[in-house]
Amino acid sequence: MSFKKTIITVIAILIVSSCMFILAMIIRGKSDTVSRDQSEQSENTYSSGNVSTDSGYSVPEVSSTQGGTSYDIPSSTPASSIQSSGSPEISQPNTQDVPQWTETNKSGEYYVNTDGIYSRIYALQDSDTVKQYRLNDKVTVVAKTDTDYFKLEDGTFIHSDYLSKNEETLWTETEINGEYYVNSDDVYSRISAIQGSDTVERYELNDKVTVIARTDTDYFKLEDGTFIHCDYLSEEEVKINLGSNLPDYSSLTQNGYTIERINGITYVDGVMIANKTYTLPRSYSPGIQPDAYDAFLEMQSAAEQDGISLYIVSGYRSYDDQEAIYARYVNDDGKEAADTYSSRPGHSDHQTGYTFDLNSLDQDFEYTPEGIWLAEHCAQFGFIIRYPKGKDAYTGYMFEPWHVRYVGRERAEAITDSGLSLEEYYGISSDYSLCVNE
Ligand SMILES: [Zn+2]
Repeated sequence: MSFKKTIITVIAILIVSSCMFILAMIIRGKSDTVSRDQSEQSENTYSSGNVSTDSGYSVPEVSSTQGGTSYDIPSSTPASSIQSSGSPEISQPNTQDVPQWTETNKSGEYYVNTDGIYSRIYALQDSDTVKQYRLNDKVTVVAKTDTDYFKLEDGTFIHSDYLSKNEETLWTETEINGEYYVNSDDVYSRISAIQGSDTVERYELNDKVTVIARTDTDYFKLEDGTFIHCDYLSEEEVKINLGSNLPDYSSLTQNGYTIERINGITYVDGVMIANKTYTLPRSYSPGIQPDAYDAFLEMQSAAEQDGISLYIVSGYRSYDDQEAIYARYVNDDGKEAADTYSSRPGHSDHQTGYTFDLNSLDQDFEYTPEGIWLAEHCAQFGFIIRYPKGKDAYTGYMFEPWHVRYVGRERAEAITDSGLSLEEYYGISSDYSLCVNE
């Protein structure tokens, strides 16, 4: 084939395809007449060379009703019926069981009151979603439907349950001013003073930040308008890291005992510590520690010989268990009260696996024969009353005569004989400090 012939062939092919294209456009013109009130919006859903697309929908048929405009639900059938029949005639979409809605003009600015909700293409539940909105996004409403949707200016719909006239107030801010230190590595600031909101910037241990406000949700607002949870800020530079993903260290407590962090777990004098200052990682889930359980069984049978019945009410508790329990108490009693008797997740003595609540979670347990026996004898089996009476200021918790903690016999006897709480004895703190709302 000569070069000239090739050129001619190519031109001929081009002419033929152009004709086919024009024919297609004519067919499309016909289809446009089917939905009487064709608009720009549905034009855009057609792609050239193809009469329609799967998602191509024609704009709703409009008829006037009193006080509003009624819409038939759009149909997406034209394309397939054209192609299968090979005829430009289009069968009328079946609108028999198709739901409808009526729109009434309405205009105003509204706020999205739920995070992550979607606008939809129709004013109908389960219709396709278009755009995701964040909490307190502002939208302009142009109509209201009798299906309880608001129509936005882009023609999409959001259910009226998810729009409010006012922004949601999720926290209140109190102005404060100060320099604080990030007390852990891998701390992120967030765009909102609420858990789980988007993170902004990563901070390292002892990064200094300027705080301009604190919130009633226990966040500190930085001068750049972002928020860091109070758990992660301290008033002083920290020598002992509080975070869980930090390098191991070894140091001495105020009273000269060894304090060390091994794999995110703090030990003082070899005793694993979980209190308001020292946390356990979420991943630390030992279950009941066998030596603690053996010691309990030994104590239980010794008690039995004295006619005393001891039994476990609560033992090991995982980080996740504690998270749920604490959230429930906060919900019931408020954070301030909950913090006097319940631990925040990661701070619970029960997560160590060395702890048992025995018999009764009632302070009057102190005066029962079982409570008296326990206080007198538990040390010889390696247990201490972890939160003694009148030691709230040191332990961070109210008196719990039922809560025993295994530390080994020698230590238990020394601590008990001293009349001190574990925190006082070792010279360590137990304080959420920055996070306690006062
Ligand atoms: Zn307990």
